[in-house]
Amino acid sequence: MPVLVMKFGGTSVANLDRIRRAAKRVGVEVAKGYDVIVIVSAMAGKTNELVGWVGETSPLYDAREYDAVVSSGENVTAGLMALTLQEMDIPARSWQGWQVPVKTTSAHSQARIEDIPPENIRRKFDEGMKVAVVAGFQGVSPEGRITTLGRGGSDTTAVAFAAAFDAERCDIYTDVDGVYTTDPRICAKAQKLDKIAFEEMLELASLGAKVLQTRSVELAMRYKVKLRVLSSFEEQSDEAGTLVCDEEDIMESKVVAGVAYSRDEAKMTLVSVADRPGIAATIFTSLSEAGVNVDMIVQNISEEGRTDMTFSCPTDQVVRAERALAETKEKGVLNFAELIADTDVAKVSVVGIGMRSHTGVAAKMFKVLSDEGINIKVITTSEIKISVLIDRKYMELAVQALHDAFELEKAV
Ligand code: ADP
Ligand code: ASP
Ligand code: MG
Repeated sequence: MPVLVMKFGGTSVANLDRIRRAAKRVGVEVAKGYDVIVIVSAMAGKTNELVGWVGETSPLYDAREYDAVVSSGENVTAGLMALTLQEMDIPARSWQGWQVPVKTTSAHSQARIEDIPPENIRRKFDEGMKVAVVAGFQGVSPEGRITTLGRGGSDTTAVAFAAAFDAERCDIYTDVDGVYTTDPRICAKAQKLDKIAFEEMLELASLGAKVLQTRSVELAMRYKVKLRVLSSFEEQSDEAGTLVCDEEDIMESKVVAGVAYSRDEAKMTLVSVADRPGIAATIFTSLSEAGVNVDMIVQNISEEGRTDMTFSCPTDQVVRAERALAETKEKGVLNFAELIADTDVAKVSVVGIGMRSHTGVAAKMFKVLSDEGINIKVITTSEIKISVLIDRKYMELAVQALHDAFELEKAV
């Protein structure tokens, strides 16, 4: 039997009614003759609640216990989904990550999937089970402990199963009907895209568009998984949603495909560090050893042998970054006057494969922001994206102005 992977996000399984509605969609695919692997998220809001409980109990928590707690939301929805399908006379069984097993690294709270041996689930399909419901977001480490894959990780579970089972398609059911030119919740003119290239989706995801977890796009690209994003609230059809596909499969693409934003950025400035070989290495080695994900980096012009070094990182890693740099200073290998953390910034980015061959996108972006009176604090570019750090209060305005300026409402 051909295998189909269907993933339902938090809002799509937010209560028993929605679980029933999702189960009906699964039933439609079973009736077409598929063996279906359903990946479920926790009910909407549940994971946030669990994360909150962990932080309240233990601010510097043990990551292994964090995973034990926050993975539990998916266990509930997996069991409920299997029960709902059974009530519809569809042979279904639920699986937690360790039961499959979904083998991951031991990087707790940020684990990567290493292997999904398909035998156990295959055997059940051979015995007549029609649907395997798998708890998303979780796996098991080589030490035998429960791990989680980072926020939004059920998308990655879904794509990894699609690759492991050579599925015909991986359908990601969510609360919007596809991938848009920007987040439709902050820009009313956002347009749904019928197709988007893997590379553009990868950039958009890594720059903050949380509709797909970045790692899921990476895996889909590597294992050539046919990946589709669609709504669990609207009528189903074979053309529904957005197909994430190879660049070659898109007839005509615009210079800029989309605008992404990330609210949770912090700008960190080390004031007056020595400007000599090895200093950047010392700073960023200590940050990386502390598990800080540094994004943008700027070094100022030096004066009398000293300079300022600015970098950005997620806001929830500011304390970790401060601690790491203070410890490095105490060891006497780094000297700086002060470390200033600006946590009221956001990152806004424009993304498009067309930038490889078109000039002037950066100039236009900076002009648009300056016309709106928005000051740019840090800039980074790559082949297909330009990102700026700005005051958070201007984030939505910047997204809307850029969406207008690059005429993304005419995207389709
Ligand atoms: P789920 O719980 O189904 O995994 P998420 O909340 O993780 O859903 O992702 C869907 C959300 O992603 C949408 O509600 C939307 O606000 C947001 N989003 C951000 N950027 C985009 C984009 N470019 N296209 C579509 N949705 C986007
Ligand atoms: N429930 C997890 C989260 O909220 C995983 C997911 O939904 O993808 O991050
Ligand atoms: Mg998600």
